[in-house]
Amino acid sequence: MRSIEHFINGSSVADAPRQSDVWNPSQGEVQARVGLGTSATLQKAVDAALAAQPAWAATNPQRRARVMFKYKELIEANMDSLAELLASEHGKVVADAKGDIQRGLEVIEYTCGIPQALKGEYTQGAGPGIDVYSMRMPLGIGAGITPFNFPAMIPMWMFGMAIACGNAFILKPSERDPSVPVRLAELMKEAGLPDGLLNVVHGDKEMVDAILDHEDIKAVSFVGSSDIAQYIYSRGTANGKRVQAFGGAKNHGIVLPDADLDQVVNDLTGAAFGSAGERCMALPVVVPVGDDTAAALREKLVPAIEKLRVGISTDPEAHYGPVVNEAHKQRVENYIQMCVDEGGELVVDGRGFMLQGHEKGFFVGPTLFDHVKPHFRSYKEEIFGPVLQIVRADTFEEAVRLPSEHEYGNGVAIFTRNGHAAREFVSRVNVGMVGVNVPIPVPVSYHSFGGWKRSGFGDIGQYGQEGLRFWTKTKVVTQKWPDGSAAGDHKEAFIIPTMA
Ligand code: NAD
Repeated sequence: MRSIEHFINGSSVADAPRQSDVWNPSQGEVQARVGLGTSATLQKAVDAALAAQPAWAATNPQRRARVMFKYKELIEANMDSLAELLASEHGKVVADAKGDIQRGLEVIEYTCGIPQALKGEYTQGAGPGIDVYSMRMPLGIGAGITPFNFPAMIPMWMFGMAIACGNAFILKPSERDPSVPVRLAELMKEAGLPDGLLNVVHGDKEMVDAILDHEDIKAVSFVGSSDIAQYIYSRGTANGKRVQAFGGAKNHGIVLPDADLDQVVNDLTGAAFGSAGERCMALPVVVPVGDDTAAALREKLVPAIEKLRVGISTDPEAHYGPVVNEAHKQRVENYIQMCVDEGGELVVDGRGFMLQGHEKGFFVGPTLFDHVKPHFRSYKEEIFGPVLQIVRADTFEEAVRLPSEHEYGNGVAIFTRNGHAAREFVSRVNVGMVGVNVPIPVPVSYHSFGGWKRSGFGDIGQYGQEGLRFWTKTKVVTQKWPDGSAAGDHKEAFIIPTMA
């Protein structure tokens, strides 16, 4: 059976006292084993990073950008094989796996402009003969701990920015689909990145804790579920690190009575069921405003859902594939039962879905509930599966309140033709990323990504300007070049300098 090893200092390292199974979710079979490392494994990665980082930080940014340009070419050249590998471990369909890689690649494209992005600020003549300038300096070694659901995009968000800014990086990817992250690191080496600057260590809590406690790791970026995000944030910051930790989500799509319902149904089915709902920017809750809107929406939604094709990840006709593993399938089905028990109306039931010829695969059919109420636990918690809940609102005010008062605050979307209502919603809703007639408002690479409330701990977003801030520290220099004429008793030197 294939073994997946760490990638440290430019080479594979088999350092694995424990192993974890890597499944093919479409077949329901183990296809590889990944070796889980320890603090000793991490130390090897830190030693390599410490040795390589100073020279990289001293490499001029244009040369660093050239590596990123080459990397972009290599990812494009390897897109098909990366997407197939990704789909085989995650379960998402190959076309969607390409989207996962492409969204990461867009951050790599942003880093190709790193010389421009890293330019500091300069003020000439801030005082008599005094100039002030600021520089963005790398932190040293950064680490990333990433979830299973975007095994290419999220690692690239993190290491692309960190490395282009002059840092070394240690990635701890999800142990459920670890092959693509290793491949991404190998391709960075092929693009010309010196050894030691991008290391991949596999592991579970033991490895994560070793990262959080290691004094040479200066910053940690995390994406995963909210309880773990909070834990990472607390333990990392208690150890003096800079930490950004993004968590779970329960995103709402608000549908006003004037919305184009055909567009809404297209957008909703893609955003609720694409990737089997395993996206932090999925739309698992739809809030039609008014019973007429709800009835009209439901009438169009049900046949659209019934037409969805669930298939193996290599089926080009499939809209979505299996969920990641058996335990997760069980969890999603338990939430469906919970919502039934809580009084939700089960309109389409995806439980017990079997795909002929792939009976062991971890499939869940598309599921629709109506009349879901805000006090249901199945509404408050993240299901992370192909389950869409209709929560009816009587008024616009109620529709603004629902996502605003939900404990998660990652994304939200409003569907309407009314510009005034959309503008009002955008400014008042208490959520970090908002779409107006855009169902999955993941910001483009030159803006920044970040949810609010229990969807994000720490106050700096991923990639774009915020990513630059996260992966660098600012040094501000105030300089004067005296002309040599100073003499005598300078009493003013004893007073704090001001610009008065
Ligand atoms: P997860 O929290 O189980 O795992 C994330 C990472 O944390 C993995 O690398 C894992 O090995 C590690 N980990 C797991 N348990 C740990 C523990 N007890 N202590 C320390 N580390 C631990 O998340 P997942 O199931 O891989 O991913 C799905 C979750 O990620 C969902 O909640 C989803 O909403 C969230 N997510 C959020 C975003 C976002 O940007 N907000 C993006 C993608 C996914």
